[in-house]
Amino acid sequence: MVAPEEKKMKTCPNCGEIVPVKTKVCPNCGQILGGRNKYKQNWFKELTPTEIFLIILGSIMLGVFLVAL
Ligand SMILES: [Zn+2]
Repeated sequence: MVAPEEKKMKTCPNCGEIVPVKTKVCPNCGQILGGRNKYKQNWFKELTPTEIFLIILGSIMLGVFLVAL
């Protein structure tokens, strides 16, 4: 029989340590255990081409603005 508490456990993606779901930082390795993984390094892959263009354009404009000063 599975203990009720085991349902609230999760595995650290970094070291494999089993920690409570509500744990935000792995006590074993210090890995940040965010509940939602939307903001990973691949966040830019979810951007539309228009958004990417605007970000690049914004960066260029900011660069030009700083140089102009
Ligand atoms: Zn860990």
